[in-house]
Amino acid sequence: MVFHARGLSKTYVMGEVEVHALRDIDLDIREGEFVVLLGPSGSGKSTLLNILGGLDAPTSGEARWRDHDLVNAGEAELTRYRREHVGFVFQFYNLIPSLTVLENVELVQEIAEKPFDPRAALALVGLTERLDHFPSQLSGGEQQRVAVARAIAKSPDVLLCDEPTGALDYDTGKLVLAAIARVNEQLGTTTVIITHNAAIAGMADRVLKLGGGRIVGEERNECRLSPE
Ligand code: ADP
Ligand code: ADP
Repeated sequence: MVFHARGLSKTYVMGEVEVHALRDIDLDIREGEFVVLLGPSGSGKSTLLNILGGLDAPTSGEARWRDHDLVNAGEAELTRYRREHVGFVFQFYNLIPSLTVLENVELVQEIAEKPFDPRAALALVGLTERLDHFPSQLSGGEQQRVAVARAIAKSPDVLLCDEPTGALDYDTGKLVLAAIARVNEQLGTTTVIITHNAAIAGMADRVLKLGGGRIVGEERNECRLSPE
C-alpha cells in the first residue's frame, strides 16, 4: 500500500469548542490508484488530504506512507517527504507571472532528485503549443494544467489535488481532471483528489464519500473511463 491509515482522528480545539474534523478513519490506498474524495464542505476532505501530504498531523491514530510513519515524523522528515515524494495541486495555480509556461515547470525540475522532462509533462497535460506563453495569456483551465505539469515535473510518488477545479467552470474543470487522469494512467502516479466536478466519477478507480469526519460511502469503478 502507498497509504495506510487506521483510527485516524483530528480534533481542533478552539477555546471551549472542539471540532472533530476526522473521526476514526481507516483507509488503504494502493500503488497507482486514483481516488476521489467527495463530501460536503466541512466533512474533513482537506484535513485528510493534508495528513496524507505531511502538511498536518492527526490527533490520534496511525498514518503511513509506504514504510514511513507520517504521525511521528519530525518536521525535517516531513519536509523531505513533501519535497521529494508529493506533488500538490491546489485551487489557485500560483504560477510565477514573469516566467513562461516552460520556465514555470523547469524551475521545479531544478530542485528535483529525479526530474521528469518538463516538455513531456506539458505534453501530457495538452499544453505543447503554449510553452513560450506567460500565465496571463492562458485561461484559468490552462493555468491549472501548467500547475499539474509543475507538480509532476519532480516525478512525485503521489499527486494530491485539493479542489483543482474549484475556480473553474464545469467544462474547463473537466479538461483539468482529464489531464490529471492521464497523468495517473500514463505515469502510474498514485493520485488523491478532492473535487465537486461530477465529470470525475467515471475516471477514478474509487470514490470515497466523507460526511462529518467519517467515510460514509465508497464506490469502485471496475472499469475506468478513458480521460480522452
Ligand atoms: P472539507 O475539506 O471537507 O471542507 P475540512 O477538512 O477543511 O473539510 O474541515 C473539517 C472541519 O474541521 C470543519 O469543521 C472545519 O471548520 C474544521 N477545521 C479545519 N481546519 C481547521 C483549523 N485550522 N482550525 C479549526 N478548525 C478547522
Ligand atoms: P476561459 O475559456 O477559461 O474563459 P478565455 O476566454 O480567457 O478562457 O480564453 C480563451 C482562449 O484564449 C484560451 O486558449 C486562452 O489561452 C486564450 N487567451 C486568453 N487571453 C489571451 C492573451 N492575452 N494572449 C493569448 N491568448 C489568450
